[in-house]
This record gives sequence, C-alpha cells and structure tokens, in this order.
Amino acid sequence: MSKKDLDWANIGFQYRVTDKRYVSNYKDGEWDEGGLIEDPTITVSESANIMQYCQEIFEGMKAYTTVDGKIVTFRPDLNASRMADSAKRMVMPPFPEDRFVEAVDMTVKANADWVPPYGSGASLYIRPFMVGTAPVIGVQPASEFQFRVFTTPVGPYFKGGATPVAITVCDYDRAAPHGTGYIKAGLNYAMSLYQTVEAHKNGFAENMYLDAAERKYVEETGGSNILFVTKEGKLVVPKSNSILPSITRRSIVYVAENMLGIEVEERPVEFAEVPDFAECGLCGTAAVISPVGWIDDHGEKIVFGDGGVGPVTAKLYETLTGIQYGTIEAPEGWIHEIK
Ligand SMILES: *Cc1c(COP(=O)(O)O)cnc(C)c1O
Repeated sequence: MSKKDLDWANIGFQYRVTDKRYVSNYKDGEWDEGGLIEDPTITVSESANIMQYCQEIFEGMKAYTTVDGKIVTFRPDLNASRMADSAKRMVMPPFPEDRFVEAVDMTVKANADWVPPYGSGASLYIRPFMVGTAPVIGVQPASEFQFRVFTTPVGPYFKGGATPVAITVCDYDRAAPHGTGYIKAGLNYAMSLYQTVEAHKNGFAENMYLDAAERKYVEETGGSNILFVTKEGKLVVPKSNSILPSITRRSIVYVAENMLGIEVEERPVEFAEVPDFAECGLCGTAAVISPVGWIDDHGEKIVFGDGGVGPVTAKLYETLTGIQYGTIEAPEGWIHEIK
C-alpha cells in the first residue's frame, strides 16, 4: 500500500476511478450480504427503473486525513438516516443504517491510497447511492435494487476555494412545496441541469432558488444550503420543508450556538431582506462553506462585504474544517475513525 502519485493540491472536482467499490443487491425482499468489487461499471436491463423512471437516491460524504494521520469520516450516521428517509419517499427499501456505515468504512479502507494527505486541501469524496435495477414498463417502483458506494479524490468544489463566488437568482423552480426537495435524489438534479448550464455560461457558480409557491422566500442553491449573517453578527438560516436537510448546515448551526457563542435564527428568510445581510455563504459537503461575494438579481447586484471572506463565515469555516481535520476537538460522536 502506498499513496497514489497525484498532484493532490490540484486534482479538481471530477470523477476518477479508484480501486474498489461496495455493492449489495436487493432481491426477493432482502439485501444480500454485499461486498467489495473491482468493476466500476453496472450492467442493467434497458428497461430498469433507473433507465426509464429515474428511481435513484444518493448521498455525498468525505473521508479526511487528520493532522495525526488518521482517516476519518464526518457524522456518517446522519448520511445513513437521511438516505433511509430518501428511500422511503422513493419507494425503495432502506439500506440498514448500521450496514451503510460499515459499507462506507469498507470502501474507504479499500481505497486508503486514494485518501489525499493532510494539508493538501483535498479529500476523498464518497458517493453511496441506490438505483432501481429491475425492469418496468408501466410506471411502478422496481422490485430489485442495487446499493453501491464508490469513492473519488477531490479538491475544492468551487474554483478559487475560499474566494467569494457569485450566484444568480433563478427563474426556474427547484422543488414544489409538497415535492421531493427534502430528499437527496438524482431527479432534483436532472431538472436543474438546464439552468445550471445557463448560470455557468453567464459566469455564476450556482443558481439561487426562491420558494416555488410565492417566489418570496430564499430556499437554497442547486447543491448547497444558504447561510446569512446579519450586521450584528447573528447567523440566519433559511427554514423550509422543500430544502435538503444539509448535514454541514446542521453542524454549522450547532458549532455557532454551542462552540462559538453566535446567536442563530432558523426561520423563513424573505428574499427582500437579503440586501440587509452582511455575509452570505453556501454550505454542503462538497462546498464546505463557500462565501458568496454577490448575488445577481436580474441585473441588480446585491453585494456582501468588500470582496474578501466575512469574519463570521471565516470563523465557521475554520472551526468546522478544524473539527474535520482533527485540530479542534469535535463534539461527541462527530468524527468516525476508519481503522
Ligand atoms: C447534498 C445537498 C446539500 C448539502 O448537504 P450536506 O449534507 O451538507 O452535504 C444541499 N443541498 C442539496 C440540494 C443537496 O443535494
């Protein structure tokens, strides 16, 4: 075993085939024993539910090399339970939560040579997912499924790392009030591709979505929750039933309240109040916390700060990454060592 020969600081955010992946298949009402395999491809029927009706859910997590050389994941139990919630909404059999954590551990351990070293700024992205594999032609859930976990080493999600990004208010909707916005399903991304390409073409890192019913409240971006900081230094976090319950966001709220003494408000946030905030950031496993420098509202610019990273965003970023990389003591149960 020896580390792969990659330029870790410049690997970008893209898929690379690593050595092993975990696979378990569901048939006749039960999950099989599962295990690691080498083949990075999947062969399914042309009429598999995933091919026709997009029965798919996923998770996104990372493995880090800590300052003392351990390989760890961050709150994997929360990914396990969120995936079980996603499975229920998509009429899929939840993968047992303890087995989810074990499968992730096995996959990371088998790809330990691909875990970027401490200090490189990179990490091993972990993608657990589940697809309906049995053929269907009428619209109905599949009867057979595959649960799989693969890994790929990644650098920062947004180019420029901690330099502020620009985002744009989107005229398309992400999630209906009683729809699927709260689960992690590929379908929420399929319908976002059109406007994502538009946003990138126009120089924006992401789209900001407003609530679909009234277009009055801030929801989230395509792949991250949004945080705001008031001029008084209070953290304000949009609350809605149609945004994805980000583990990064929930962790930041805890860190702010319990470790940094920052007051937190979780409530519906009107788009009209956004210009009053002092700082804005995007948060998620991939993005960690990316500061937002400005928001484009149909040609009007809403600017935060002076082009640098705001003090509260910086403090939250340092504390959260310190916990993940082992330089700051973690709350009980947050850091899961892979041995
Ligand atoms: C995955 C995801 C996030 C971030 O969630 P984390 O658990 O923090 O990684 C935010 N929004 C959407 C739409 C997502 O799919």
